[in-house]
Amino acid sequence: MSEQIPFWMDSVGRGWHPLLRRLHEQLIAVNPDYQVRQLKEKWGMLRIYLATGLQRGDFIETGRLPDEQESQRMAREDDEARRLVRAAEEESGRICESCGEPGEARKERWIKTLCDDCHTARQARCGRPGS
Ligand SMILES: [Zn+2]
Repeated sequence: MSEQIPFWMDSVGRGWHPLLRRLHEQLIAVNPDYQVRQLKEKWGMLRIYLATGLQRGDFIETGRLPDEQESQRMAREDDEARRLVRAAEEESGRICESCGEPGEARKERWIKTLCDDCHTARQARCGRPGS
């Protein structure tokens, strides 16, 4: 199943939502029909898998193949979209996933990118002070 970013928003904390909304605008500008196959958090960072090339909706649905000119346009769009996604994934590693303030990777039972306040609050909630 492929959808655009707003569909996937609740897969990650709301601290990353402004970053995702901006990425959505950027991707729409490259290709209004862009599709995301999966969006999740992994090792404290966003991971976004785009539908590229023949995974793009039109071709899956119709079984049609792109002509030469179309292939070149799609390759350009896919490259640009991948570049935007990589930049956003990297940026997510410096933003608290919980509240959106500047954050860094924290090792709890798993790695989360959080600011000091959210990190302290989570540790208090989990009863695991200072690690
Ligand atoms: Zn925070």
